[in-house]
Amino acid sequence: MTDLPIKKIIHIDMDAFYASVEQMDNPELRNKPVAVGGGSERGVVAAASYEARKFGVKSAMSGIIAKRLCPDLIFVKPRFERYKELSYRIREIFFEYTDLVEPLSLDEAYLDVTENKKNISSATRLAKEIRIRILNEVGLKASAGISINKFTAKIASDINKPNGQKTILPEDVIPFLEELPIEKFFGIGKVTAKKMIGLGIYNGKDLKNQTLDFLTRNFGKAGSHFYEIVRGIQYSEVKPNRIRKSIAAERTFSNNLRNLKEIKVKLNSISEELERRIERNNVKGKTITLKIKYDDFSIQTRSKTVFDWLAKKTEIDKIIDELLTQKEINRPVRLLGISLSSLYTEEKFPDIAVQLKIDFNKKIE
Ligand SMILES: [Mg+2]
Repeated sequence: MTDLPIKKIIHIDMDAFYASVEQMDNPELRNKPVAVGGGSERGVVAAASYEARKFGVKSAMSGIIAKRLCPDLIFVKPRFERYKELSYRIREIFFEYTDLVEPLSLDEAYLDVTENKKNISSATRLAKEIRIRILNEVGLKASAGISINKFTAKIASDINKPNGQKTILPEDVIPFLEELPIEKFFGIGKVTAKKMIGLGIYNGKDLKNQTLDFLTRNFGKAGSHFYEIVRGIQYSEVKPNRIRKSIAAERTFSNNLRNLKEIKVKLNSISEELERRIERNNVKGKTITLKIKYDDFSIQTRSKTVFDWLAKKTEIDKIIDELLTQKEINRPVRLLGISLSSLYTEEKFPDIAVQLKIDFNKKIE
């Protein structure tokens, strides 16, 4: 076993993410079969609550079929900005443990915790702690898979879903993969699985019995990938595709804000939240951006960059006051956000500065 490349990888997967967010935000949807999306005539379900899944409702299913399977199904319009907001909050938690975070989508990420900021050696314990924090701080349930590489961790996170986790220890990886049905291998889709079965390959053990030559002949380049993964070998690193460029807090309001006083009260609590995140992440920055989204979905951003490093709420509030009075707000407001950018942390990564600049212009508004 010692010849295997061993890392401590956690794959976190939020449980029925979009549907769970809707059930969290709208108490009347709790414990009910909910489908996000799929409500319009030719709509497709983007996510289904566990109550709906019992009836066989799945994501990517047409709304019409879903309704046929589950006549009481409640269709909800997706609110991607809200999902994004929560996803970023969840990522902030990940960043407290490691900078090696690779998001796969809004609701999934790999974390390399081989070395971590808490100096906790048990990845199982870390995964548990992270899941508890997501539940306490964001209000949502997550599942986790823990293993020696991304591939195995990803398969593991599905095993005790929802609201569970599974660790596959280094010594268990090989037997686990040998028993795994071929269609459960991550990266083996329906078509490949069918082809495998046609070749008499039903599980990991069958796959392992094939020569590299045989697999390459039948599956091309992927053949060598299959040859390695079934032996517990995967060199793919956790690639943090988002180096932190800013730290932000924002809120979407269920009732639009209509006067300056209300706006100020909300901004005060947002800057409080921002200060907490700044402290936790131990960063400082020079640019404050106020983001305002109006009821017509138009977005306005107002920024100010100062000479001194900013990290405290009092300093941030002063700039927010200035930005707020810069121009009149003459429409109802549905979202407010404050972000701190031009972070000090950027200077710690000079080697990626170029790449950072490109992303920078794209991501920061
Ligand atoms: Mg998920």
